[in-house]
Amino acid sequence: MLTIEWSMASGWEKPHIKPLENLSLHPASSSLHYAVELFEGMKAYRGVDGKIRLFRPTLNMNRMVRSAQRATLPPSLGVKKPTKALLYVILSPVGPYFASGSFNPISLWADPKYVRAWKGGTGDCKLGGNYGSSIYAQQEALELGCQQVLWLYGDDHQITEVGTMNLFLYWINEDGENELATPPLDGIILPGVTRQSILDLACNWGEFKVSERYITMSDLMAALEENRVKEMFGAGTACIVCPISKILYKGKHLHIPTMENGPQLTTRFLNKLNDIQYGREDSDWTVLVS
Ligand SMILES: *Cc1c(COP(=O)(O)O)cnc(C)c1O
Repeated sequence: MLTIEWSMASGWEKPHIKPLENLSLHPASSSLHYAVELFEGMKAYRGVDGKIRLFRPTLNMNRMVRSAQRATLPPSLGVKKPTKALLYVILSPVGPYFASGSFNPISLWADPKYVRAWKGGTGDCKLGGNYGSSIYAQQEALELGCQQVLWLYGDDHQITEVGTMNLFLYWINEDGENELATPPLDGIILPGVTRQSILDLACNWGEFKVSERYITMSDLMAALEENRVKEMFGAGTACIVCPISKILYKGKHLHIPTMENGPQLTTRFLNKLNDIQYGREDSDWTVLVS
């Protein structure tokens, strides 16, 4: 095997020809070449009582089975499934997937020229290929002074997700109702555990309308114009919730008044979920690790 290492500090090293080592992942593995690969991201929380809790782990496991089916990995019904697979679990205080996690509002770049997921694709599964291909757009967002990509879809510029988070809008809708809205699971949205938990909590509170519905950029801009937007936030296991304060769209900076509004609802979700995750509140959503 010919190998050449590269690093930021010293660039390309000398090439070496050496025998294949006894690697558990073969360099010709289809996971490296065709992204026949999937992952999950789950946190364990050390609670105020010193006990360790998992948060709704069966939702992660069910999603993992669905991803495996889509990638024709075992357990699978696929006909062309690989003959070998490797499952590994990285146990880390803060894994790479969880590197964020402050409550500072973020700015987004929205441009329809890149698409994260499409109908009939794999955007609703946690497959590696969805993510590798999104890094280029993320890089462009950074160059334009924004922190993450707001992924749009379709000719009507539907708002779908933020970076690798689901998206929520708390606003006064077109009919004058207080509404918490997030796009529906129509195949291009990743079914987040945090997303589901926020929907479950909000439905349970019953204080405002809770909708899985389409939101377009023009819906959002009309609402901003008419002062109907209260809070906008991303949701995922890494940061739980992440307030949004700015969107760069068609060369214009749209200000989202999330922070001016508390953010009351965003903070309430964060506190409620943290209380459950850290064991300050009893809930059948957590599973104790003995
Ligand atoms: C993982 C992920 C989410 C969030 O899912 P959680 O289960 O809440 O962590 C949202 N969108 C994308 C694209 C993701 O990969």
